[in-house]
Amino acid sequence: MDDTPDNHSEGRDHAVVLGAGLAGLLTARVLAERFARVTVVERDELSEDGPRFRPGVPQSRHAHVLWARGVDVMEGLLPGITGELTAGGCALLESPRDFLWLSPADWFGPLPGSRVLLGSRELIDWTLRRAVLRDGRIRVLAGRPATGLIAGADGRSVAGVTLREGGPLPARLVVDATGRTSKTPAWLAALGYPAPALTRYDSHLGYSSRTYRTPADPARPWRGMYVQGRPDSPRGGVLVPVDGDRWLVTLIGNGEHAPPTRDPDFLEFARGLRSPALYDAIRAAEPLSDPTGFRGTANERRHYERADRWPEGLLVTGDAACRFNPVYGHGMTVAALGAQALREALAGLAAEGIPAACRAVQRRTAPAASAAWQIATSEDLRYPGTEGPPPDRATRILQRYMSRVMVGANTDAALCAPFFGVLSLTAPPSTLLSPGTVLRVLSKWRLPTSPEAPAYPPHHRSA
Ligand SMILES: Cc1cc2nc3c(=O)[nH]c(=O)nc-3n(C[C@H](O)[C@H](O)[C@H](O)COP(=O)(O)OP(=O)(O)OC[C@H]3O[C@@H](n4cnc5c(N)ncnc54)[C@H](O)[C@@H]3O)c2cc1C
Repeated sequence: MDDTPDNHSEGRDHAVVLGAGLAGLLTARVLAERFARVTVVERDELSEDGPRFRPGVPQSRHAHVLWARGVDVMEGLLPGITGELTAGGCALLESPRDFLWLSPADWFGPLPGSRVLLGSRELIDWTLRRAVLRDGRIRVLAGRPATGLIAGADGRSVAGVTLREGGPLPARLVVDATGRTSKTPAWLAALGYPAPALTRYDSHLGYSSRTYRTPADPARPWRGMYVQGRPDSPRGGVLVPVDGDRWLVTLIGNGEHAPPTRDPDFLEFARGLRSPALYDAIRAAEPLSDPTGFRGTANERRHYERADRWPEGLLVTGDAACRFNPVYGHGMTVAALGAQALREALAGLAAEGIPAACRAVQRRTAPAASAAWQIATSEDLRYPGTEGPPPDRATRILQRYMSRVMVGANTDAALCAPFFGVLSLTAPPSTLLSPGTVLRVLSKWRLPTSPEAPAYPPHHRSA
């Protein structure tokens, strides 16, 4: 990797992407189709010899599921990437069929629904980085935090970025993909632009995660597990297989139910979930790490697409623009959808025309986050402690309807498939309002939406 900032050119054929996370890497891949050179600026040092934890992506210590739509979009952007991920140790499973999954209503049966890719976030990032950097037009400057935007001489454009070390980096286009800690609102203010409008919903969900060595059990009929909480019992847990023959177990809870990060308490919390299945699975397993917590899981959307004034040559993508309560597992898929939307928005534009088109491009790419935003915010609003604009009448009706969809999807393959189609972002939420689906849901309207579920599903032996 070339480690030298390019100060020699005026950046005419050069694009800079801030952040070598998922959104940054996929954006670099797309921009290399339009620019002669793309530089990815990353604050962390990056390992070249394999997946490693790094402080800039602290969420990697927690379970990450990549839904089918994310897998397919990444494959479209980087042909062969799915094979590289599975060869590296990721598992491609069918959900809910390959899981023990207790929904807010009841257990899902062993039904097909959607593919889902599971692996450590470190492995996913490293595999993607290796694939993206095979393109000779893309380079990474690692260990170089970006510190600000450079104003263009015309007073209405961005002409590059400043770095904590080394000289400025001129560029025709700058894309902020620095994730949850993005400084773009402050950087825009420094250039004289107003702060973007912010919409925020916070259900105060806390995470605590640790890894275990996968216990040997050739007869185990499941690969992963999800015991969901619900408003009257807001504690849950997920167990996913990750590379290195490990289980990654993430416990979750809202507000005062946030999971502990100390040793015996972690197991006790698991014991108190709506089903003992997860506790039974891990109680004798060998822990490979201490529990680690994560707070700050609010849904936050910065409406850059609504800005009245916007500089030429700047775009914002990924978590930097919109982030979600992670419990629905959508952030990585939305990062991929954002890159795909960018590719479509830039189609036909030459590099010199892109800066002036940035405002329109920001507007065209924003809807990539909309379905995930709708799902996360309307589900979070079921929890009484959620902060944010209250649900309108339409949202409340939709919540009631979705509770019935969930009950039906637990056992009815004809509802399970569209439910997971929407959850995996493969199908739009409106799919669940098609006449056939509505009739099927109405036929189950009398079923209880919050039944007392058995400890284990009928199709499963206990541990
Ligand atoms: C606890 C938790 C669990 C999650 N689980 C899931 C899940 O199951 N499924 C899912 O799809 N999503 C999940 N997500 C969301 C997912 O992690 C994010 O949506 C995804 O990482 C977004 O990618 P990004 O590239 O925008 O940001 P990130 O992946 O966070 O990358 C940002 C990058 O920018 C770098 N950076 C920051 N500041 C600077 C700077 N000044 N200069 C240069 N570089 C900088 C960082 O070091 C980092 O490399 C989860 C999130 C959390 C918090």
